[in-house]
Amino acid sequence: MGKNELIQYTILIIVSCNVIGLIFTLVSIHVTALNRFKIQKRRIKPITFYKRLPLIIFNISLLILISYLGLYFFYDYGLFVEGESLNKSSTFSIITAQLFLILVIDDLYFYFLHAMMHKNKFILKKIHYLHHRSIAPVALEYIYVHPLEWMSGYLGPFIGILIISLFGPVSIFSFWLYQIIRNIHELDVHSGFKSKFSKWIPFWGETEHHDKHHESLNGNYATTFTFWDEVFGTKI
Ligand SMILES: [Zn+2]
Ligand SMILES: [Zn+2]
Repeated sequence: MGKNELIQYTILIIVSCNVIGLIFTLVSIHVTALNRFKIQKRRIKPITFYKRLPLIIFNISLLILISYLGLYFFYDYGLFVEGESLNKSSTFSIITAQLFLILVIDDLYFYFLHAMMHKNKFILKKIHYLHHRSIAPVALEYIYVHPLEWMSGYLGPFIGILIISLFGPVSIFSFWLYQIIRNIHELDVHSGFKSKFSKWIPFWGETEHHDKHHESLNGNYATTFTFWDEVFGTKI
């Protein structure tokens, strides 16, 4: 697989996840029959969401551009290989282990970044508070954030990839699976819907975990997993 194909597939993943997210969000704000499955009693007015949409679309466009440039750079440094190039007998276990490591490292990085944005009142007011205008968020509001916030957050998976690459090449499939899981997870935890299945996965950050953070503006700073908040005593 060439560099262009790798970049095209990655962008296709990002666009698909966000188109699904947009459809899901529109259904969730317009179909009032779904309200009984929601965690909070508060509701966003559809007009409020539409006013927020330009920043959301701007952030997604920038995300595509930065992913393009990031992968262009990373590919040239030989950090990625295709799954088939890894040792065949252990391809599945290597991809799974790499995926898990990227998710854990990214979540730890996000934990510190997010907790810092709450402790530093200047950054909270100027940057992070924008995301907290959503007290009862809907799915696509995961990216209703100051561009500087998600750009600093997007360093997380690449820190993970750099650490893993010290021990060997990173499979592009680990990265793609990371992108899909992280994106769908962000849509899920901002959806406001009570979790049905994810609550049964140990240490998985279910919707209630992040929804509580939006409701109380305090604690539950990690997103993918719940254990970092347990470890640092910030679980609410
Ligand atoms: Zn926050
Ligand atoms: Zn959020």
